[in-house]
Amino acid sequence: MKTFDVAVIGAGPVGSFTAYQLTDRGFKVCLLEKKKEIGKAVICAGVISKQAFKRFDLPTESVLGRFNTIVFVSPKGRRLIYESEENFAYVVDRKIFDRGISTMAQRIGVEIHCGEKVTEIEESTHNYTIKTKSKRFRAKVVVLATGVNYGLHRKCSLGQPEDYLYGSQVDTHLFVPEERIIIHIGQNFAPGSFGWIVPAGLGNTRIGVLTYDRNRRWLNKFLKNRLNISDKNIKNRLRLKPIAYGPIDRSVKNRVLAVGEAAGQIKTTTGGGIFYGLLCSEIAVDKIAKYFKSKHRLTDYELTWRTALKSEFDIGKSLREIARTLDDDTIEKLFAFVKKNRVWVRYLLPRINFDFHSNFLFFCLQSFKSLLF
Ligand SMILES: Cc1cc2nc3c(=O)[nH]c(=O)nc-3n(C[C@H](O)[C@H](O)[C@H](O)COP(=O)(O)OP(=O)(O)OC[C@H]3O[C@@H](n4cnc5c(N)ncnc54)[C@H](O)[C@@H]3O)c2cc1C
Repeated sequence: MKTFDVAVIGAGPVGSFTAYQLTDRGFKVCLLEKKKEIGKAVICAGVISKQAFKRFDLPTESVLGRFNTIVFVSPKGRRLIYESEENFAYVVDRKIFDRGISTMAQRIGVEIHCGEKVTEIEESTHNYTIKTKSKRFRAKVVVLATGVNYGLHRKCSLGQPEDYLYGSQVDTHLFVPEERIIIHIGQNFAPGSFGWIVPAGLGNTRIGVLTYDRNRRWLNKFLKNRLNISDKNIKNRLRLKPIAYGPIDRSVKNRVLAVGEAAGQIKTTTGGGIFYGLLCSEIAVDKIAKYFKSKHRLTDYELTWRTALKSEFDIGKSLREIARTLDDDTIEKLFAFVKKNRVWVRYLLPRINFDFHSNFLFFCLQSFKSLLF
């Protein structure tokens, strides 16, 4: 059995990106993935900021469309349009995206093993032995990038997310004429949350809802009652997946750490996880490099990423708590307020950032106080 410096478990975007960066820094890395094919059957709307593409040099061949507009639609159909001069987000094919990052990793020397579900991680004085059904790997440090799968966390004494949201989605034949994301708000189909329409290339539009309970009826209501979409327009069966809601309470123990959705590094507002996962992957790689150089403790990782994202998690959760209490009439009033107050909108616009929501949410919550409380 050869010994790796780091074993990364899970070849989603965050695991592959972590393996890539570690190898780039000169470490010997293996990447273990339970699926036989990386990127297969991923459930995701695939919306990623342009900022993320620039910052992390992500695979542009995965891009299906670019957006400079988001339309918010109220329960009664009132529309608020946010339009930027430049594109701020892309929609990707997750299969091509995930494979693109793992190919980058493989090209610089990451040893990738697909079809290997890790079932055990055993600690000894200097190493961990990582077991799959038929193979053993040995590594000095282990990174769990297993997404919303927390079985190994229990074995390594890492935490679990406090709670989950549920994302469900279908692909449709619908054609949305302009490259814009449409967000529908209404308690009848996404109580306290929202539904999305995301054009994803010619003749394909992704439609989904983010909800608090694991129930397919919300997306069915959104499709049938709200959007009048018939079954013949739907390409595949409805697919539903939990999404970590908030960070796990412990993401490092000895020389094992969790990153990405495995650590609950997810936007508590939208459930998007790719940007924060990649951001925290950079932090993890930095800390691991310091550990190998000077035996610097890995617990620093926990402190650094929590400090970077704490206000984002907190304000996202506050917003969600408030949103759950609103009825459709109050939501209409909020839409009316924004439509009427052009000066207010002028102050709001510079605060908008696709990945960091706390600044503009704080501004909105302060301004809406009289309407909400
Ligand atoms: C409906 C829906 C829509 C979404 N839309 C967006 C969006 O538009 N934008 C966005 O940023 N995010 C979105 N998300 C969230 C996003 O998909 C996740 O945050 C992202 O995939 C997390 O990346 P990751 O690399 O941490 O984990 P994953 O992509 O989940 O990868 C984890 C990998 O680990 C592997 N694995 C798990 N356990 C083991 C094991 N024991 N052994 C070996 N391998 C293992 C899995 O097979 C998987 O390949 C959405 C989620 C849902 C459900």
